[in-house]
Amino acid sequence: MLKEKYIALVDCDSFFVSCEQKRNPELKGKPVSVISNPNGCVISRSKEAKKLGVKMGEPLFLAKKDHPQGIYIVADHDYYDAVSKEVMNILKNFSPYVQIYSIDEAFVDFTGLKRLYKKNYYSLAVMLREKIAQDVDIPVSIGVSKSKTLAKLASDKAKNTKDGVYLIGRKKIQKELKHTNIEEIWGIGRRLTNFFHKSGILKADELVKKDDKWLNDKIGINASEMKHELLGECISPVINEIKLPKSIQQTKALNEFTNDKNHLKNAINYHIHTACRKLRQIECKASVIILFLRTKDFRIITAKKILDEPCDFELKISEELLKMLENIYDKNILYRSTGVILEHFTRNSEVQLMLFGNDKETQKHKNLTKCFDNIERRFGKNAIQTGFDTKKN
Ligand SMILES: [Mg+2]
Repeated sequence: MLKEKYIALVDCDSFFVSCEQKRNPELKGKPVSVISNPNGCVISRSKEAKKLGVKMGEPLFLAKKDHPQGIYIVADHDYYDAVSKEVMNILKNFSPYVQIYSIDEAFVDFTGLKRLYKKNYYSLAVMLREKIAQDVDIPVSIGVSKSKTLAKLASDKAKNTKDGVYLIGRKKIQKELKHTNIEEIWGIGRRLTNFFHKSGILKADELVKKDDKWLNDKIGINASEMKHELLGECISPVINEIKLPKSIQQTKALNEFTNDKNHLKNAINYHIHTACRKLRQIECKASVIILFLRTKDFRIITAKKILDEPCDFELKISEELLKMLENIYDKNILYRSTGVILEHFTRNSEVQLMLFGNDKETQKHKNLTKCFDNIERRFGKNAIQTGFDTKKN
């Protein structure tokens, strides 16, 4: 039985504009838009600017021409980062579990706080919202429900309520799903929406009626997880952010100088296996892979590749690195060590839910990887590997 959770999504309203209004209160209540750069596009709008008809993504010269009475300010991201930190610090003081999702959004685990603060979950959200308004002067919307997916849905609805808070409790879930279009669900992009529409699924309550096997076969395990989240089961808990390392590096001297390519390949696969395990532990995928070889006379030869999409699957990374080896390997050189570096990490939670295309493939990778990790949890590190160490027997 899953533990009953209450999760809030705190979402700052028109965040960049709100930051400008905090810095210069005279801008409050005015049609303010923030633009990406002096010749850029609109990236944030106040309520008044929206009413005026300023569009998101509109180039500045067009916006100015159509709405000359609007106020246009160039983005100051350093300032927005600092304000974001202020908001997040309040959240961290409020609950022990806070997961920052973007510069202006964070999940906060409310479970158990009812007793601590002696308030129901709705009042807790109202209190938190007032605290942020008072201390940081930034307006937020807060959605509260039983899972992240439902909290996200609730936060969208909170934008249109008087209190800026919306709660979807256990009893309200079915009714909400009936009124929620597929495309309103977090993680469902245009392609997936089209797919669901073609399958005759228009509303969230129709999606949750599909069995897990159908969802897994047609889309992938993420889809069945999404279904259970929509039913109020907390599949993806709120995890405190850990600071991501800049890179993961595995390197080791070979047992003897060698120009044997197979020997090098095995050493490299051994590094990949360890590096990918570390990558999975921090729940990330890497976008950049680097291979390096150190020669007998201490020269370093490297090759670097940017992957098409972030990856944590070692067989795929191995395939790429071994191709790179072909390019830099020279049979007339003796090597003393090999190394692998993974860089540019993306949290799994940030990788878009649905990419279709190779999703069956992704699914297979995910299952195989889970299998690796389970075996190693039982039998110890390196119980299974795609390469082997270069020690002599
Ligand atoms: Mg926002």
